[in-house]
Amino acid sequence: MIEQLGPPTLFFTLSSANTKWPDLHKLFPKTQSNTVHHNRMQFIENLVNNPHITTLYLHLRFQIFRDEVIVKQLHATDHWYRYEWQHRGSAHIHGFLWLPQAPNIDNLDSSNHESIQSVKNLFDQYITTWNPRTEVDHLNKQYIPAISNPCLSNTGVISRSEPCTDYTELVNVVQCHMKCLEYTCLKKNSTLKCRYKAHWPEQHDSSLTLDHNNNPSYKPARNDSRLNVHNPMMLAIWRANVDCQAICSKKAILQYISKYVSKTEHKSESYIDILKRIVGLINSEDTILLAYHRFMMGIVADRDISTQETCHMLLKLPLISCTRQFVNLNVGKKIFQL
Ligand SMILES: [Zn+2]
Repeated sequence: MIEQLGPPTLFFTLSSANTKWPDLHKLFPKTQSNTVHHNRMQFIENLVNNPHITTLYLHLRFQIFRDEVIVKQLHATDHWYRYEWQHRGSAHIHGFLWLPQAPNIDNLDSSNHESIQSVKNLFDQYITTWNPRTEVDHLNKQYIPAISNPCLSNTGVISRSEPCTDYTELVNVVQCHMKCLEYTCLKKNSTLKCRYKAHWPEQHDSSLTLDHNNNPSYKPARNDSRLNVHNPMMLAIWRANVDCQAICSKKAILQYISKYVSKTEHKSESYIDILKRIVGLINSEDTILLAYHRFMMGIVADRDISTQETCHMLLKLPLISCTRQFVNLNVGKKIFQL
């Protein structure tokens, strides 16, 4: 797709709020009434006992979101996305969006002020790190939401609420990277460091600058060092954590693909490591087919799969989807060769 359409405009990740979405919990057998009162232990029990319902709900929720928000509101001309499961956990959706009037990053002239400005203007329309909280909230540091968590609001409450207040609640409750924890974001090189490089410096205006590798990098205006980059409409409608990044270089696309789109499960061996281990077990006289067979067996035996991922496959839901169709041609046979 990148080869034919050019680079995508935005990269996004949508997380799930499975322990909170009331529309999901209304579907479980143990939820008695239409009005869902949040009982965290009951919600967790629902999820554990009914991974098939959770899986299908997420898939349908995202399909509606894709058609109503990504296509009709953001007017994406093309999209590509895949599901990814945290280690034994809930799903994330990673994807690329091709948006209208997007700049051609291949021709971006970083010395041309007008060219830089037009790219900034475009990205400013779609992504933000500006917290709409009041000055009082800012001084208090700790945001106190009107309700315990806006993700717990049911559809009736959301439709009656004031949209700006609802968005402020979502930004401050689900979108802020408050604390770096060892099991979520801290990774160890020589010292423990946040893999998202939080917290981020505030800046009054958006910027498009060259990074240390000479690749253009866009940063939206920021008044909150803890706020994740997001698209306001996606957050307001998806109602769980949303990450949205501007794509300014081909290197950024490769980074997203290697970091998120093709990432291996936490604590499991990577395919490369399995392959290295299998190679050590193969004799020089073994056939390639045998090596491949052992590699596939290694993947099946060694990879941890969450119950939701298993249900996704049992329900025959697509793992990847996009707006283009691909046809595989076997050009190995002589009959297909020109
Ligand atoms: Zn962190």
